[in-house]
Amino acid sequence: MSQLLSGKPVAEAIRAEVGEIVKQLFSRNVVPTLALIVATHDEAALSYVRMICKTAAKVGVQTKISELDPTVTEQEIEAELQRLAADPEIHGIILQTPLPEQADQDALRALIPFSKDVDGASPLSAGRLVSELDGFAPATAAAVMQILHHYNISLQGKQAVVIGRSRVVGKPVATLLLHADATVTVCHSKTEDLADITKEADIVVAAVGKPKLITIDHIKTGAIVIDVGTNILEDGTLVGDVDAEALAAKDASVSPVPGGVGPVTTAILLHHTVRAAKNSLNA
Ligand code: NAP
Repeated sequence: MSQLLSGKPVAEAIRAEVGEIVKQLFSRNVVPTLALIVATHDEAALSYVRMICKTAAKVGVQTKISELDPTVTEQEIEAELQRLAADPEIHGIILQTPLPEQADQDALRALIPFSKDVDGASPLSAGRLVSELDGFAPATAAAVMQILHHYNISLQGKQAVVIGRSRVVGKPVATLLLHADATVTVCHSKTEDLADITKEADIVVAAVGKPKLITIDHIKTGAIVIDVGTNILEDGTLVGDVDAEALAAKDASVSPVPGGVGPVTTAILLHHTVRAAKNSLNA
């Protein structure tokens, strides 16, 4: 039977858990703190940062924004990253994208210590994820898994297709699905006959950034579909990659946009931050 895979109860459950960990940290005089380096005027990025700060405040996580002008040099961002990396009162670091053109994103990401890399952005975190070592997965990828877990969707032996192979979403989602014993296929812009592949899948994760890419022709009856895409239409409406209304005819269970992966991603970032703060007590 199809169901709406809303992210709201998932995010609420995670935030409640964060609140409990925050209480434990406060009792040991630790204020969990997330630092965000922001060097952009991009409105979507700024609104994402505002959302993180607002949600963090509700659960007792402190946020500190290092606001840098987009004309900043790579060396100045590097210096700020190193300052935050060395500060014992900072538990998580997010290097918000987009970064200024003059900055080497890969070089900067590599400077985030993995113990504070709450969005799994560094190559070390990526390697540790593949190697199944402790660390933080990119929050969006972890959010996809958390939604599947919350709705008791079994993954073992299931055919999962991930559409998109970015470092922040597609690849880590595919890795996490593989770790959960799904049989995973990854599709991308050069994939031929996408619908023939996705039609075989029990679980489809769409992480592309193209409205209505996934239609009724891409999905088998009763499939689970997680829509990661966030696309702003000309009239300002936010939509995902999936034509969710059409998929209802296939009895598919779909995560909505908005209200699906997005709020869970924010909650996961805070969960990672309080975990990092807890880990710092034992370091
Ligand atoms: P990205 O870096 O642009 O990657 C998009 C991927 O889609 C690429 O791997 C690309 O293939 C593939 N692709 C493009 N056109 C395709 C097509 N016609 N058929 C199949 N695959 C195609 O984007 P991203 O950062 O992964 O983000 C993906 C989407 O998720 C975006 O809408 C983004 O806004 C959204 N997002 C949402 C959250 C959230 O919290 N809700 C967080 C992060 C991202 P190639 O590799 O061949 O180019």
